[in-house]
Amino acid sequence: MDITQLGDRILSGDRRALARAITLVESRRDDHRAQAASLLDHLAGAGRQALRIGLSGTPGVGKSTFIESFGMMLIGQGLRVAVLAVDPSSARSGGSILGDKTRMERLSRERAAFIRPSPSQSHLGGVARRTREAVSLCEAAGFDVVLIETVGVGQSETVVAELSDLFLLLLAPAGGDELQGVKRGIMEMADLILVNKADGELKSTATRTCADYAGALRLLRKRVQDPPGFPKALTVSAVEEQGLDAAWTEMRALSDWRRENGHWTANRAEQARYWFGQEVRHALLAQLDTPQARAEMDRLSTAAAQGQLTPASAAEQMLAFLREG
Ligand code: GDP
Repeated sequence: MDITQLGDRILSGDRRALARAITLVESRRDDHRAQAASLLDHLAGAGRQALRIGLSGTPGVGKSTFIESFGMMLIGQGLRVAVLAVDPSSARSGGSILGDKTRMERLSRERAAFIRPSPSQSHLGGVARRTREAVSLCEAAGFDVVLIETVGVGQSETVVAELSDLFLLLLAPAGGDELQGVKRGIMEMADLILVNKADGELKSTATRTCADYAGALRLLRKRVQDPPGFPKALTVSAVEEQGLDAAWTEMRALSDWRRENGHWTANRAEQARYWFGQEVRHALLAQLDTPQARAEMDRLSTAAAQGQLTPASAAEQMLAFLREG
């Protein structure tokens, strides 16, 4: 495959080339990894930037309905929208949150949209690294907005926040007790809390829930990267397409403010630092994943188990083994 040609097709906004490139970055074959790396290097110079929006919420809260309505609204404004997913459960089940295209039927038919399910990797770290590369590819392909969806499971929100410029938390209308159910750490990540399903019989509950969360957000520590009034809580109805425009106005106000005040660039720089660290850790761990290294691990762990070596000196020997390559 001609990588330069593939790169040029991506830069021209060709969605098939984009899909093919994402398949390449998701591949575990060594030759594909090398091609992917040179493609990403080639495209990094293009310097295009999208607004990367992370979106988290438990199953059933309305993420795909929201992404479809919100995505259609953005497309109506002339924007191009890519949707990616980070789904750690897909690693286990082989399925994925975006695997079923019918979840976003209208959006998937739009020429200005690109929808890609979560890569199926064996662990969250793998999913995250591949998704980060897919985000760069979407950016190079000229998408204005990249939505990165995740289910609220384990560490996936943290990973998505490290991939995003803005982080949205989608919640359902609920009684006061359930407010406690949202972990503080996740609340602290949110730039906007959107209480979905603010329609019909649920409307008044949604309004109350929203006020409760707005109150909870005011109690959180103020972050330097937030203008006055942020983080905020708003009500939306993905089904009735209510409140989406207001939410988009808030997102733009926040991202404009961050750009003007240097936080946007600083945040991306900090993320690059984070992902560099992740790549190094991953590469170090990969050194343990060869047949020779596994055999040596077995030998030394048995020696430690039988008391012939202390765990610390067995570890020293293992590291010496790795250094000697
Ligand atoms: P996901 O699992 O978070 O992707 O949630 P879905 O988008 O699949 O939605 C789960 C259910 O909630 C579906 O039955 C939707 O029709 C419903 N739903 C989603 N958004 C809304 C909304 O704004 N109002 C109401 N009343 N129902 C909604």
